[in-house]
Amino acid sequence: MKVRVDQGRCQGHTLCAMVAPGVFELDDVDGHASAVEEDVPATREAAARRAARSCPERAISVGGEAS
Ligand code: SF4
Repeated sequence: MKVRVDQGRCQGHTLCAMVAPGVFELDDVDGHASAVEEDVPATREAAARRAARSCPERAISVGGEAS
């Protein structure tokens, strides 16, 4: 499953990295999130979807769909 963070929407709330720490990481400079791996392993898909739902900016798309 593909996962992607829209850098134009991300405000660095960090929720995604707390919900799915192995899936999202935060940039040390601007605090924006990005996917650790664009192709999320099956074992982490549920966490990636939870993180997408938790993002207040709706910046995360999973499986090619916006959250
Ligand atoms: S929860 Fe959304 S806005 Fe916050 S860091 Fe993650 S992608 Fe960015």
